[in-house]
Amino acid sequence: MNVADSELVASILEQNDFTIVDNIDDAEIIIFNTCSVRQHAEDRVMGRISNEISRKNSNKQLKIGVIGCMAQRLGKKLQEQNEKIDFVVGTDRYKKLPEIITNLFKNPGFRSDTVVNNKEIYEDLYPIHTGKLNAFVTIMRGCNNFCSYCIVPYVRGRERSRNAEDIINDVHKTGEQGFKDVTLLGQNVNSYNYKGIDFAELLRRVNKIETVKRIRFVTSHPKDLSDEVIEVMANSEKVCEHLHLAMQSGDDEILSRMNRGYTAKHYYSIVQKLRKAMPDIAITTDVIAGFPGETQAQFQQTYDLMKKIEFDYAFTFKYSPREGTKAAEFNDHILEETRLDRLQQLINLQQDITLKKYQDQIGKIKEIYVEKVSKKSIHELAGKSRDFKITVFKGDKSLIGTFVNVKITDAVGWTLKGKIVK
Ligand code: SAH
Ligand code: SF4
Repeated sequence: MNVADSELVASILEQNDFTIVDNIDDAEIIIFNTCSVRQHAEDRVMGRISNEISRKNSNKQLKIGVIGCMAQRLGKKLQEQNEKIDFVVGTDRYKKLPEIITNLFKNPGFRSDTVVNNKEIYEDLYPIHTGKLNAFVTIMRGCNNFCSYCIVPYVRGRERSRNAEDIINDVHKTGEQGFKDVTLLGQNVNSYNYKGIDFAELLRRVNKIETVKRIRFVTSHPKDLSDEVIEVMANSEKVCEHLHLAMQSGDDEILSRMNRGYTAKHYYSIVQKLRKAMPDIAITTDVIAGFPGETQAQFQQTYDLMKKIEFDYAFTFKYSPREGTKAAEFNDHILEETRLDRLQQLINLQQDITLKKYQDQIGKIKEIYVEKVSKKSIHELAGKSRDFKITVFKGDKSLIGTFVNVKITDAVGWTLKGKIVK
């Protein structure tokens, strides 16, 4: 989502006569787009900001700005943390950036604009896609779910869906520009609704767009993923056999305290439906270890469900308290070392499962979208399968941007190796 927002901001700035430079040394303005979802993300960006701010010693004109969720969350307080920050602009105010920056050069002094209007959808803007061959198209902004641990609804405001026709036009244009693999984006795409067009219908329409070859979407919420969407996925040629479906926990009481709106049984039943409809589907997930009050037995439920489901990949996180959220107020936070220990157990478990899942691919022939020359060898190419697995194989770089069939011969960590077949 932040990549997509950065692309949007780049577009707003270019339309107002700013130029995006490739090399940071050439920049007169540096903008950090930030994430607030965990404390770790915030700490890291503050470190980056401090590093780059030293450039002001040799470049007195340099302006440094912070945008995104952390800007929204902390506003003016960010300048207290680092007084050399020149401007802070929140998630709904990116259209104001050209004006704010221009004024800053005329009349220096800290600026902050974090007004939330809950309506901004950046409708009339087409982002500058920065990916090589994959592109993101935002279909909705904000979130109404208020999962008890999550800061997103507070910093991105209420859920709103973009006009379906605009989405279709953007996807069409994206494909025309050569991005054949398009990901539809939203915090909870399954609740997309624009004047009666729901997500299943949107997928059907996007599937008909001739300029693109692959369609993906993130993120799906288990409580809103309908049977109809599963059916559309299975029957739409371009919709890839990959679903990212955050599980968060395998214990019903924890899920309820997280305000997730589903049970472990319901989650498992969705996995079964998906695999029945698309036997080769890759399912990936997010899981939080050490949520407040999580007992050893409840953690074990999560561990056991992950083991039973066998995700292709899992993003595992240690619970991070976010000020202002409901869970941060719970009085049964568990020890940091317990959180870390549980996280490590989940990482170890998933590593073995991922390796097994990748080894299961050996012998299969997979369609690969060739993206680049492999990092490890100039004689090898790298690309992704429909089920989102990086695959490396010998081939000439003229194949970049095309689709080839590759027979999988090996699995090394999270990479498949193979040979092009006719
Ligand atoms: N809208 C997406 C998730 C966005 S945040 C969804 O609902 O699936 C991405 C992931 O970060 C979440 O799925 C969750 O696993 C994790 N996360 C969010 N808040 C967190 C917190 N306070 N501590 C640890 N992990 C968190
Ligand atoms: Fe956060 Fe839940 Fe919304 Fe995802 S659905 S962004 S986890 S509140």
